[in-house]
Amino acid sequence: MTRVFKVDPLNPDQDVIRQVASILRSGGLVAFPTETVYGLGAAVFNEQAVRRVYIVKQRPFDNPLIIHISSLEMLYLVAEDISEREVKLIEKFWPGPLTLILPRNPRVPRVVSGGLDTVAVRMPAHPVALALIRELGEPIAAPSANLAGRPSPTSAEHVIQDLYGKIDAIVDGGVTLYGIESTIINARTNPPILLRPGAYPVEEIERVLGEKVAVPDYARGLGEATLALAPGMRYRHYAPETPLILVDPVSGRIDTLVSKVLSTIMELRDMYSKICVVSSKETANAYRSLEGVSVIEIGSRWNIFEVTRNLFKTLRILDTLKCDIGLVEGFEERGLGLAVMNRLRKASYKRILA
Ligand code: AMP
Ligand code: MG
Repeated sequence: MTRVFKVDPLNPDQDVIRQVASILRSGGLVAFPTETVYGLGAAVFNEQAVRRVYIVKQRPFDNPLIIHISSLEMLYLVAEDISEREVKLIEKFWPGPLTLILPRNPRVPRVVSGGLDTVAVRMPAHPVALALIRELGEPIAAPSANLAGRPSPTSAEHVIQDLYGKIDAIVDGGVTLYGIESTIINARTNPPILLRPGAYPVEEIERVLGEKVAVPDYARGLGEATLALAPGMRYRHYAPETPLILVDPVSGRIDTLVSKVLSTIMELRDMYSKICVVSSKETANAYRSLEGVSVIEIGSRWNIFEVTRNLFKTLRILDTLKCDIGLVEGFEERGLGLAVMNRLRKASYKRILA
C-alpha cells in the first residue's frame, strides 16, 4: 500500500516527517519533493531497500543513484578526499541542484553507485527533502521518482501515475521549483566535465570556478556516453509514449524553425491523422489553424525558466492527447536551454535540423 502525505512544502509538519523517516528507517521506499524533481528515496546504507529502488523503477542496475545529504558532516559518510575545487563548488552551490562525482566511501553499498568506485552526491535545497534526511539521520539515495525512461515527475500526481501501489509513501509537497534534474559535474578532471546539464547553468559554474567546463556531445543529448563517464546517459530517457520528433533550431533563426515545423507537418499528414505540436507561446499561432493539428504551449521562448518548469509536465500531457505523432520545437542551447535540449533530444526518436 502507498500512503500519500500532503505537506506544506515550505514548512512541513514535523509529525509527518517523523512518520515518513521511520518508513525509510525500516527499509521502505518514499517519494519526496526536491527543488528539481521528485525523488524516490531509500536509506543509503540499507542495501535491500536500495535494490528495491531499481526494481520498482525498472532501472538497470548499472545506472547509479544520487545520494542526498542534509549537512557537510554527512558528506564524509558517503565520500572521501574532497578537493579544493570541489569545496569551492560546495560552498557556492549547496544546498542546491549541483551533483558532484566523488570517490566512494567504502561503507556505501556498491548497488548505490552501480558498481562504480565513485558516488554522486548533492545537498537539496528543499525544506521537505532536508527535513527528511535530517530526521532519518543519514543520507538518502534517490533517483527521480518515475518509471525508467518516462518523463521525470514534477508533481506528486506524476509519481502516482508511475509508482502508486509499488512504493510505501509519497510526500506531496506540490509542484517542484526548477522542474528539471540537478547539474552533474565531475570536477576531478582537467578541465572539469559536465556529465549532465541541469538546473544550475554550466556558465554559472564556470564563473565560480574561474575556468572552462568541458561540455561533451552526450551532455548536449547527442551521441552516447561511455560507461565510466555517465552510465545513465546510455539509456532512453524522459520519453513520452507518443513518438516524438524534435525540430532543432541549429540556425538560431525562429522563422527557419517555424518553416521547418510547417513543412514537416505537411509531410507527416499523409501518414498520420492526428499530429501534436509542442511549441513556444510566440510561435503557437503558426500551427493553430491547421486541420488535424493540436498545439500544446510549453512556455515563452524568452523565458527559458518557464519552458524548463513546464517541460516534463508537457511531455506527460502530450500522451493524454492521444496523437499519432508529436513534433516539438527546440530552444537555444544557452543557460537552462542546454538542459532542456539535452532532455528533448533524449525524449525524441528523431531529430530534424532547422
Ligand atoms: P536520476 O536521479 O534519475 O536523474 O539519476 C541519477 C543520475 O546520476 C544518472 O544519470 C546517473 O548516471 C548519474 N550518476 C550517479 N552516480 C554517478 C557516478 N558515480 N558517476 C557518474 N554519474 C553518476
Ligand atoms: Mg531519472
